[in-house]
Formats: sequence, structure tokens, C-alpha cells
Amino acid sequence: MFKTIIEPFRIKVVEQIKMTTPEQRQEMIQAAGYNIFALRSDDVIIDLLTDSGTGAMSAEQWSGIMRGDESYAGSPSYFRFRDSVQDITGFEHIIPTHQGRAAERILFSVMCKEGDVVPNNSHFDTTRANVEFRGATALDLPSPELADMDSDRPFKGDMNVDRLRAAFAEYGADRIPLVMLTVTNNSGGGQPVSMANIREVSAVCREHNTPLYLDACRLTENSYFIKQRETGYADKTVRQIVREMCDLTDGCTMSAKKDAIVNMGGFLATRDAELAQEEKNLLILTEGFPTYGGLAGRDLEALAVGMQEAVDEDYLHYRIASTRYIGDHLREAGVPLIWPPGGHAIYLDARRFAAHLEPIQLPGVSVAIALYLLGGVRACEIGTLMFGRRNSETGEEIAGPRELVRLAIPRRVYTQSHMDYVIEVVIKAFQEREGLPAYRIVEQAPFLRHFSAKLEPVR
Ligand SMILES: *Cc1c(COP(=O)(O)O)cnc(C)c1O
Repeated sequence: MFKTIIEPFRIKVVEQIKMTTPEQRQEMIQAAGYNIFALRSDDVIIDLLTDSGTGAMSAEQWSGIMRGDESYAGSPSYFRFRDSVQDITGFEHIIPTHQGRAAERILFSVMCKEGDVVPNNSHFDTTRANVEFRGATALDLPSPELADMDSDRPFKGDMNVDRLRAAFAEYGADRIPLVMLTVTNNSGGGQPVSMANIREVSAVCREHNTPLYLDACRLTENSYFIKQRETGYADKTVRQIVREMCDLTDGCTMSAKKDAIVNMGGFLATRDAELAQEEKNLLILTEGFPTYGGLAGRDLEALAVGMQEAVDEDYLHYRIASTRYIGDHLREAGVPLIWPPGGHAIYLDARRFAAHLEPIQLPGVSVAIALYLLGGVRACEIGTLMFGRRNSETGEEIAGPRELVRLAIPRRVYTQSHMDYVIEVVIKAFQEREGLPAYRIVEQAPFLRHFSAKLEPVR
């Protein structure tokens, strides 16, 4: 066998990348207040800010865009969308939404009330915000294995089932309207959840008559990890594994901007007809009529095709292997990162990368800016800028729980040579790590400050 894993697609349309020099990038990052969110994307050479909505659609998806029927009600595009999602997931009632968070808002509005508790292996930030907006508590129950960044465990995304049992004992099933599993575990380094864990969580939920939902954004990447790593699944197809995961649950929310490779779209799915009716009633208020839910007919077509492409095993093999490839090369060079590499992203550990900086000196920001200055690579800090805060009385900066820099890989967008370039840039930044400056925040908003903060290097 050959060791080179090729992209299983040819390129028909190209987008020009504007090349820039380090001197130009120095000016641009300064003008952006040293905030990578304030950069213009055409001033970025390789954009690894997120894998959400940034994928490249296939010729089949673009054909679907032309086929899209824009009728207000009962469009054939809706039925193709519904049939495709039902075919992959087996869920009965499929409600289109403009993206994942709209599905979350509707689900929690219908299922949760004040004082409720929603357990999840790890809530994604919009999921947490939507639970909390209902006055409920978002309870993270990650596997203890997740805390060790270096161990090579296959399913660090699992939920801690002992703690789930303890939560039912402490709060009672009355206060737990549903349990969620995020596959793969995005906030937990993109780590997969095992089928054994889904089965166990499902059993605990059934004991208490509590529905189990998937946050299914990366459902097919998770299934591919199960096929590769879990005993008994090597000979099953990803399609079968996806269905087995769904069969253990009662519904899902989905941001199709992830595994379904569309630029915009999502859905909410359930087996419960009564619940689906309530959800549609709410959908009409803010998203739209139930046969389009805030999407154009052409978006529904692209989503219908994308769901089928997402279970293609040649594609998934390339996808997971190419993320792994970056991780392997960085680890070999001694760069500290969450191990093993996740499905959609590499997470650098800025705490160890810039070990001379304290968390309040923003090591993640410093690493991310170094990647931009050196090579025009844009990555996302997930550290004290994002999750720390300023004490409004004393003005003291309080550190976040960890200091990570996420390199998220858009689907089907970059080639291996782009990734070789990214690897070189990260290694160069690592070699020069002792010179990485501290940063401080000069201006910040009270909420979600990372999007708009202005920063400066401390010389
Ligand atoms: C992206 C994401 C969401 C939210 O989806 P949007 O389409 O961005 O609204 C929810 N959960 C997880 C795990 C995600 O990655």
C-alpha cells in the first residue's frame, strides 16, 4: 500500500489566495487591535479559525443549488432534504433550521423550564447559552480521561456515566428533562464518543424515562472513529454505525455547517410526534414555515446531498487522516498539543508552548498572533481572552480554565501542501517561542469579549 493519502476529489473551481509579507501582516494585525477576529479574511493566507460553514461544496451540491425550488410551502426541495436526513438518521420528524443554535433554542424552549438541569459530556458554548437562557443549568460530565492531554486513549469524548447516575440521584429525573451527548466532543478537543458509552448513557436515560439527544454536528466523523477504534465495528459501514448511534437516542440537533458540508443550515429531529408539533409551532414564530425553517429551497438541496456525502468512507478516511497528519508532525517536533488529534481540529497547548507567560499574559493570543505574523495562518484562541474575565470592582484579570489555540480544518478546502505549510509555520513559531511577547487587553466588552477586544503587546 502507498502511504500518501490523496484528497479524494479534483478541483474544478479555485479561489485566489492573496499572498502577504510579514511586514504587511504586522501592519494589519496592529490595525486590527491585535484581535484576529478583526482581521479581514482576505488578509489571511490559510484560515483555520473554524470548520463551521467553511467547507467546499461538491459539484453535486452546486447542482442541487440550481435545482432548489423556492416555493413557500411544500417545496420538493424540502421533501428531498427530509428523506435524506431520515435515510441517514432514522429519526421520524425532521425540522429545518437556519443553523444549529436555532435548533437548540427551539428544543430547550419546548423541553426545559427554570431550575432544570441538562447533563452533557461537554456543552458547546451556544448549547450552554441556550440552556442557561431558559433558566436551566448546563452540567458538563466529561470523562476523567479528558483531563490528561497526553494520553493516547481512543474515546476521551465519553460521558462520565457514574457522574450521570449521581446527577439523577441528586436532582431527580423530574428536573432532568433530557440528556445530551455531543459527538464529537467539540469543547473537549474534538474527541470521539464510543458506542459503548452511548449505549450505557442510553440505558441510564431509559431507566429514568428521560430522552437522550445527540448534538450531532460531527456525527459521521465520530462514527468513523468508532469504526477505526472500537472492537466489533471494523466491518460495519459508517452508515450502519451512524444509524446505530441514532437508534440509541430520541432525537438530535444538528449544525449542518459541520459534517453535512453546507455553508448554512441545520435541523432538529425527534421521534415524538407531539413534541415535533410544539417545535413547529415555535419554528413558525422566528424561523419560518415548517417546510423551509429559515432556509432557502436551494440550501435544503445542498444539505440533502451533503448528508449523503458525509458518510462516504473515502472522504472520511482522508478527512481524519489529514487532521492526524498535522498532529503527528507537530508532536514529532515536540509541539505540545491535545492528544490524540481530534476529527476536525488540532488544539495546541499554549500553556506549555509559551511556558514563560502566565495565563493573564494571554499565551494563546501570543501563539495565535505569531502564527499569523510568521505565515498568515489564522487560528483561534480558546483561553483567557475567550473564557477569562475582568473583575469589575478591582479591575483584576481572572484567568480562564485552559490556554488552547485551535487550528480547525475546513472540509475539502485545503490541500496537503497547504497543511505542510501550516506545520512549518507552527514549528517555526515553536522554535522562536521564547521571544513570544505577553499581551494585555486595552478595551473589552462585558460579554463575549474575545470577538471585539482591543489588545497590545507588552514590550
Ligand atoms: C457549531 C456547533 C453548534 C452550533 O451550531 P451553529 O450552526 O454554529 O449555530 C452546536 N454544537 C456544536 C458541538 C457545534 O460544534
